[in-house]
Amino acid sequence: MTERRAGRLWVVATPIGNREDLSPRAQAVLRMCDLIAAEDTRHSMALLMHYGIAARVIALHEHNERAVGDELVRRLREGATIALISDAGTPLISDPGFRLVRAARAAGIAVSPVPGPCAAIAALSVAGLPSDRFVFEGFLPARAAARRARLQALRGESRTLILYEASHRIAETLEDCRAVLGDERRAVLARELTKLYETVLDGTLAELAARLAADADQRRGEFVLLIAGIEEDDAAARLAEGRRVFELLRRELPPGRAAKLASEISGAPRKALYAERESPPEP
Ligand code: SAM
Repeated sequence: MTERRAGRLWVVATPIGNREDLSPRAQAVLRMCDLIAAEDTRHSMALLMHYGIAARVIALHEHNERAVGDELVRRLREGATIALISDAGTPLISDPGFRLVRAARAAGIAVSPVPGPCAAIAALSVAGLPSDRFVFEGFLPARAAARRARLQALRGESRTLILYEASHRIAETLEDCRAVLGDERRAVLARELTKLYETVLDGTLAELAARLAADADQRRGEFVLLIAGIEEDDAAARLAEGRRVFELLRRELPPGRAAKLASEISGAPRKALYAERESPPEP
């Protein structure tokens, strides 16, 4: 009896707005796959039809990833060749797919990338902010309190910060960034990249908020918000100040609480203040 070879999972990047950004290799892989797992099948069918790719498409989204993922791994084991795509850009980047890739790898299936568009990287490539070290935070929490807490934790970050945001929350998020990171922090707002109304604005957080307040068009579409990190010297000074405050507060408070307050007062990352402790900080 001959044993069938295990298949391969291809993780294929698709355009973030301009359909012509689907690479020839991505087209070839999508064409030869037995099955394409897509976030929104109707949306992806339009792209596939544009390229004349007739393929079987199955829905894989955050609500069914576990169940459908198990079925896909079973088929991969039987030798199927499957492509994973998302609505736009690179799968797994603020998109589903992580569980499937993990399960496929755990099952010994080969997983190969077909790299291509990604809004975060496209925005970084035109922002003119330091790009040698950056932090991708994806979407901030939807709830205002959690969003501010997340920004607070990022206040002392020296790397360029990359955030995704939707049109209905961009003005609110900018206001929170101003409140927590300060009006003068430099930032870039990349909107509708590769599309008709592509706009890349730069300025301070206060200037960007003012641009959006003055022009409703600038609040439409899809956004990547990039925020400059603080200077390394400032980061070191904040850390030193944070450690000093932490040691003072620790005399009166449990360590987790002391680290949280010291971080809020100094702007130093809470984790850095707590790094040498044995137990993890309180949530
Ligand atoms: N996987 C995608 C990628 O590789 O970039 C991201 C998917 S995430 C669900 C969608 C978010 O990405 C949007 O809300 C927006 O923040 C950002 N985004 C996607 N396309 C964009 C574009 N053309 N211009 C600006 N931001 C975009």
